[in-house]
Amino acid sequence: MDIIEADVVIVGGGPAGCTCALYTSRADLKTVILDKNPSVGALAITHQIANYPGVSSEMSGDALLSLMRDQAVEYGTDYRRAQVFGVDVNGEWKTVYTPEGTFKARSLVLASGAMGRPASFKGEADFLGKGVSYCATCDGAFYRGREVAVVGFNKEAIEEGQVLTKFASTVHWITSNDPKEDDLHAQDLIAHPNVKHWSKTRLMKINGNDSGVNMIQVKSRSSESQEDVAVDGVFVYMSGSKPITDFLGDQIALREDGGVVVDDFMATSCEGVWAIGDIRNTPFKQAVVAASDGCIAAMAIDRFLNSRKSIRVDWVHS
Ligand SMILES: Cc1cc2nc3c(=O)[nH]c(=O)nc-3n(C[C@H](O)[C@H](O)[C@H](O)COP(=O)(O)OP(=O)(O)OC[C@H]3O[C@@H](n4cnc5c(N)ncnc54)[C@H](O)[C@@H]3O)c2cc1C
Repeated sequence: MDIIEADVVIVGGGPAGCTCALYTSRADLKTVILDKNPSVGALAITHQIANYPGVSSEMSGDALLSLMRDQAVEYGTDYRRAQVFGVDVNGEWKTVYTPEGTFKARSLVLASGAMGRPASFKGEADFLGKGVSYCATCDGAFYRGREVAVVGFNKEAIEEGQVLTKFASTVHWITSNDPKEDDLHAQDLIAHPNVKHWSKTRLMKINGNDSGVNMIQVKSRSSESQEDVAVDGVFVYMSGSKPITDFLGDQIALREDGGVVVDDFMATSCEGVWAIGDIRNTPFKQAVVAASDGCIAAMAIDRFLNSRKSIRVDWVHS
């Protein structure tokens, strides 16, 4: 698989990542954004954003985010859909692993937000990596011809369910509510011949043995008893509010509340790695704060990569 080199690799294409990319691209730094899914971050799911300075109070978060992304791309940012599943921050060049390729850069920016959640279903933590996954694009091919479950009802669950239909013999889609009839993506997934939809049903437990997952227990709202479903994989897509840092291992210092520790320049405990936006888990989770973090990190990165003594402002246009 290809190795792509850049000056700056940014994990996450929310307001923090896009703002950082806008500034680093304008500073002539080769910048790549790796974004798992542009529709599932905190800003993307915000119905109406009435408090971002200078934009109409009618604007949706998704529309504002598209503007930010387009502006960064216009200045040269290479925006790619890819879920980061691991990084190696040792040494001068940081390595970032995705199913779509490996990326190397001298500066790495963590901007994956705080829409993560701790493992909460019974058995989820025990079988993580042994049948439980959060990334069909990464792991789907392991389940060719086998039965899997997809749990969740958001856009990510629907898109990842579609990915799994290419590999699995049956995709059991478990949703606690019924998708609306005008939700065409959800209806498309339900209509797929490989998909069995378990409507108004909850996942109760994930079971398995030393070889991994082999069964889930589900309970329908209309039934008193639980039902066993034989599956080899369970893909969980439930939103929460925990910083998304699972791809970091223990390479970067985190606070007790899960937020990444940074200094005034958004630099983390590892030289060459910055963290911006909700991943810091500050009490002020706002789009404008995330954008501000992105700007600060970008200017610090420009200074770091060009060995400048001071920060170069972005508004001196000659
Ligand atoms: C329901 C809701 C309403 C809100 N309303 C407002 C409001 O009205 N005004 C306001 O200012 N703020 C609002 N906020 C807060 C604001 O949206 C966030 O503070 C802001 O979006 C944080 O930006 P971010 O870039 O850090 O993270 P996010 O916007 O969450 O973006 C993170 C990005 O990282 C990607 N990502 C995650 N994991 C990976 C991975 N492993 N690999 C690659 N990419 C990854 C995600 O797909 C996403 O695109 C709201 C938040 C929520 C949840």
